[in-house]
Amino acid sequence: MSNRQAADDEFARLLALVTSHLADRNATLDTLPTTPTAHAVRAAVATLPSSLPANGWTAPTTIDYLVKTLLPGCLTAQNGPRYFGFVTGGVTPAAQLAETLLTGYDENVTLTLPDTSAATAVEAKALEMVLDLLNIPRESFAGRTITTGATGSNVLGMACARDYLYANSPHLPQGYSYAQSGPPSSPTLPSPPIVVLGLHPHFSILKAAALVGIGGGPGVIQSLPADADDELAIDIAALHARLAAEKEVGRGVIVTYGLGEVNTGGFGRGLGNVAALCKEYGAWLHVDGAFGGFAGVLPELQHLVDGIELANSLTLDGHKWLNVPYDCGLFFTRDIGTLPALLGPPSGSGPAYLQTGSSSTAVGAGESQGFVHDHVPSPLFLNIENSRRFRALPLFASLVSLGKDGYIEIIRRNNAFAQRVAYYIAEHPNYVLLNASPGWVAGSMDRDQPPIVPLNIVLFGGSATSPFPPSDVPGQDGAPALTAAINATRRMYVSGTKWRGVGAVRLAVSNWRTGRDGEDFDAVKRVLDKVVVEACKKE
Ligand SMILES: *Cc1c(COP(=O)(O)O)cnc(C)c1O
Repeated sequence: MSNRQAADDEFARLLALVTSHLADRNATLDTLPTTPTAHAVRAAVATLPSSLPANGWTAPTTIDYLVKTLLPGCLTAQNGPRYFGFVTGGVTPAAQLAETLLTGYDENVTLTLPDTSAATAVEAKALEMVLDLLNIPRESFAGRTITTGATGSNVLGMACARDYLYANSPHLPQGYSYAQSGPPSSPTLPSPPIVVLGLHPHFSILKAAALVGIGGGPGVIQSLPADADDELAIDIAALHARLAAEKEVGRGVIVTYGLGEVNTGGFGRGLGNVAALCKEYGAWLHVDGAFGGFAGVLPELQHLVDGIELANSLTLDGHKWLNVPYDCGLFFTRDIGTLPALLGPPSGSGPAYLQTGSSSTAVGAGESQGFVHDHVPSPLFLNIENSRRFRALPLFASLVSLGKDGYIEIIRRNNAFAQRVAYYIAEHPNYVLLNASPGWVAGSMDRDQPPIVPLNIVLFGGSATSPFPPSDVPGQDGAPALTAAINATRRMYVSGTKWRGVGAVRLAVSNWRTGRDGEDFDAVKRVLDKVVVEACKKE
């Protein structure tokens, strides 16, 4: 047998082994412990080689080591149904299988010419279908691209905003391009030249603004006051006054608007009004809807995202509620030319995206490839990376395998699960629910009252009479101990946070597996009951 034949045979054998391992794991994912023990983590770390082996371990030894030694020390069931930390999502069957295929093909999407691959068309189609899923008219966002996550999308959003604001600054020549010319020097330009205003901008917005030269510190990223009647809504009069004042001095303004507050999953009213003001004053409106944007999938929650289509740029996550594998984010902006103007080649003769490169034979930095397929700009000019994986394939596979109805079912079921947990918490003597929807009244028979929690997040803490009482005295707050006690059961996983200055536990439901039968809810109830009983025993 030739060496090559032997290598091929060995690969086929290992592939079957890995496939069968994944199938076994999949069959137990509903009951696997959510996290490894601290001991298992330490044991795995202790086996890491001290340096690069001079003689390779070979593939069979390596894969055996990964499966038996290393992976048991990594998050064992983060993609299982009772991992409620952050907003994590899982991976749908079609997405997981497509991901496996994609790795085998190892295609670099950016290196596609129209006649060499359909990958770019798949990517464009997947992005279009996400808009369909969210009931957003396709023409609202002609600029679309796929990223590494919401943070990557926020970087693009901040960069597009930056270029737009400098191009329209009264202190600079009209059309000034930051992307091409760098930071402008003008004695009249205010300092800072751009501010980012928002209610509770996600940490990733700060990173993004720092990265693209806007600045991520408190002098640039500034909080707007909240509406007196709605702590999640921007005080519209204050925004109006601020925009007018900034226009007076000619400072650029980015307004960031979070759809789905990270702690509560709540939505403020008034995105449409914010958008109208931004338009009037020439501010750039960036909407971060990483997970909350998907409320728009459900007809009954569509009103929560009213006005989303008015954003100048929009961030969504693929690896959260869409349940496609890490990493996958989505970015949308109004005009098809915005991203190529930022990321395309320098050009003195009009926007780069209009240069159809049908005569070009090579691709690479500086080549103006123009459009590929029907009205799809070259991926090279849409994205941060020059080389990138075929990330759209699992997204596309998941979307077509489930269809709109399939995603509606998952998102509705996840929300319903959060509601059930919230009711359990609200009625439990040892717990308090911290994110009941405004207007929700315990015990009310009103059929029109809002859901108990706004979306898929349950924010709670121990009650004053529980073993985990709340406190705003540092070190005395019961919430961190409650979070730790819940997670130590390894039957479910939650994350800790702070809300209104006091510690809280946050349970976010975003996995397609969660709540397919009564098992998950029963498991959650058992854990919530058990941790208080155990804590009482210790006292
Ligand atoms: C998760 C999240 C982010 C960061 O997203 P990544 O995909 O982790 O980069 C940004 N904004 C919001 C509102 C989020 O929920």
